[in-house]
Amino acid sequence: MAIEKIANGVVVSMTYVLTVDGEEVDRAGSDDPLEYLHGADNIVPGLEEVLEGKKIGDKVSAVVPPEQGYGEYDEDEVDEFDFDEIEDAAELEVGMPLEFEEEDEEGNVFIYEGTIMEITEDTIVVDFNAPLAGKTLNFEVEILGLREASAEELDHGHPHSMDGFFEDEE
Ligand code: ZN
Repeated sequence: MAIEKIANGVVVSMTYVLTVDGEEVDRAGSDDPLEYLHGADNIVPGLEEVLEGKKIGDKVSAVVPPEQGYGEYDEDEVDEFDFDEIEDAAELEVGMPLEFEEEDEEGNVFIYEGTIMEITEDTIVVDFNAPLAGKTLNFEVEILGLREASAEELDHGHPHSMDGFFEDEE
């Protein structure tokens, strides 16, 4: 049976334009739509909530506050590092992403990604907030298609139609 409405377990194909502070920061057009699995945290909670129950052809405008988007901006997520703690520090520039690895006692490796905020003579300031933390997100969405997710997609928690966009965890 054809899927009529967006609900948990449905793969949604959609176009969107994301605008923040009056500037477009991201979009997916009809030639390259986004597909996501509804109910699986593939998209920010505020947008997922607004899309619940929508149908093919629906156009949706959503204003998503930070707490329903990428979270509030947290000053404690900004850390300062000594220049010599960081590999290839001399080649870094403000605005670049930077990855840190941390290993716990059981040997699990965690990767944190931050953005370089400031470089001084002997320190590097790194912001670990999500790039859109603290921002209100304005989405213009059009629903292009709905289909049932495969058992494998449900198991993985993401659609398999978008190569490389949602990565599988090993
Ligand atoms: Zn997968």
